[in-house]
Amino acid sequence: MNALAATRSAFEVTELEPVLARSVTVLGSTGSIGVSTLDVVSHARKAYGEHVMPVEAITAQGRVDDLIKQAREIKPKLAVIGDDKLYAQLKDGLAGTGIEVAAGRKAVIEAAARPSSTVMVAIMGAAALEPALAAVARSATVALANKECIVAAGGVFHKALSASTAAVIPVDSEHNAVFQVLNGEGAHEVEKVILTASGGPFRDKTLEEMAIATVEQAVAHPNWSMGAKISVDSATLMNKGLELIEAHFLFALPPEKLDVLVHPQSIVHCLVSYEDGTTLAHLSAPDMRTPIAHALAWPRRISSPSRRLDLAAVGQLNFRKPDHERFRCLGLAMEAMRVGKLAPTILNAANEIAVDAFLNRRIGFLDIPRVVETTLSESPEANTAADTLDGVLAADARARERAGEICRRVVN
Ligand code: NDP
Ligand code: MG
Repeated sequence: MNALAATRSAFEVTELEPVLARSVTVLGSTGSIGVSTLDVVSHARKAYGEHVMPVEAITAQGRVDDLIKQAREIKPKLAVIGDDKLYAQLKDGLAGTGIEVAAGRKAVIEAAARPSSTVMVAIMGAAALEPALAAVARSATVALANKECIVAAGGVFHKALSASTAAVIPVDSEHNAVFQVLNGEGAHEVEKVILTASGGPFRDKTLEEMAIATVEQAVAHPNWSMGAKISVDSATLMNKGLELIEAHFLFALPPEKLDVLVHPQSIVHCLVSYEDGTTLAHLSAPDMRTPIAHALAWPRRISSPSRRLDLAAVGQLNFRKPDHERFRCLGLAMEAMRVGKLAPTILNAANEIAVDAFLNRRIGFLDIPRVVETTLSESPEANTAADTLDGVLAADARARERAGEICRRVVN
């Protein structure tokens, strides 16, 4: 390295010091986003020094061996396993390391409440809600990958946010893109926010082909490598529906200002159109380590190991309208967004149950929208206000039970 480069990199590190000194907690560290987050942290330690981005806590649910391995490498103060039957295994695996261990649902929530600067919320499903609220309550910076908690409890989340000084930095690639494009400006001059969707593995399949789709086909996403649940959501386009509701709550955008375009290359993540005719887009290679690095360093930027965009290699960018007939989940989510109240809570809960039943080969792929639609139509409370955590949790539990019964009915 020459003298000029050395001076510059020393200067950059000094400038970045407050960002690099931030401690991080990773909830759901063994999942796809969790692993990518720890990869960004490891990369930063190689790039800026082993002392940067100290990790306060990491949590997992069932993959205890992965958690042990991660803890030995990343050296958090605390490692938590959600399934309390795995406590002894975790304790043995980390004996002699000085890393604290804990187990159980309460311990996951307590991990979020420990004093770290940033909490990456990468737990799957509405199970992330209470840990995320614990991070908000102590005014942490919340790097929010999980979308189900916002969909299930957008109003409750908002209330909690306004009672604290927590900042939410969206990690979901489209929302991270909108966050970057808006750059702190309000959304009032915005005419339209368009989220892009790859279209998933069944983008060009017929309804007949989708009816006999296997789990293996549904989780084989063409552009992104993700956890099983979100991969199925991408195949049904429920993921994009959940993301519309997520954007509605995160950016206070009314449903009529939100839309979706299918964009098979997953390079443009959002388009924001303004009143004067300007449209701004956000582009990056489809690699979650980019929005993760952005969220961890915001409002600065740090080096990330993510793939770089090569537009010449991509060649062309295509866009088309989504097909609502083949992808009914998108319309169901849009309708739930318009209804508001407890409808998104019920939609999300029913979808989690239906996707789980599909992944366990108890229902077919096209049964997923059927289960969600029937659960919504058999839930008169969808029209009830969703303003308390207890109310949301009760509606979520009832919808899960109902959706479970409907799954059984669907196969008989
Ligand atoms: P994964 O299924 O890969 O990982 C989920 C993580 O959450 C794992 O660490 C898992 O633990 C843990 N977990 C599962 N259930 C519970 C529970 N009940 N309580 C506590 N922890 C639990 O999911 P992803 O990483 O793919 O997704 C995580 C979230 O981020 C989702 O909400 C998803 O929609 C969102 N997201 C993901 C993207 C992606 O590219 N993957 C992109 C944008 C958003 P264990 O593995 O030990 O059982
Ligand atoms: Mg997304």
